[in-house]
Amino acid sequence: MSNVGRHGVRTDGRFEFTCASCGGVAATLAVVDDDQPIDAGALPDGARLSWSPGAPSYRLEFVNVNTGTAPDGLVDLVSDLDEVDPLVVRRIDWELAAFCCHVCELNYCSKCWSNWVEFDDDFYDCTRGRCPAGHEQMLDD
Ligand SMILES: [Zn+2]
Ligand SMILES: [Zn+2]
Repeated sequence: MSNVGRHGVRTDGRFEFTCASCGGVAATLAVVDDDQPIDAGALPDGARLSWSPGAPSYRLEFVNVNTGTAPDGLVDLVSDLDEVDPLVVRRIDWELAAFCCHVCELNYCSKCWSNWVEFDDDFYDCTRGRCPAGHEQMLDD
């Protein structure tokens, strides 16, 4: 599957990144403008948690669903694009492109990364992973 592109393709208002190993969806990244509530995932009772940030925000679905205020430059970067390069996104905020291996410069999904959680005094610290080619990096912090 070495011909899988690294660039995220805009689909239904978000960018979809393809896993270079299995061909599935590696991650999705949405950049939401300020007056739309964003979906932050399911609560334990099945309801959806959503919040209105009052500022441009992002929603990344990879190992976990991550949402937050869009870092400077992200909205301008993606607003006119139909495809986005995770290596460019990484220069703005590495966590938004954590699905892209730093060495392979290819995307992998959360199943193709063999990942593990690290704890700091019993609290969640970060998720690290190893890509199919054996490179290790931080996936979520
Ligand atoms: Zn995969
Ligand atoms: Zn790699």
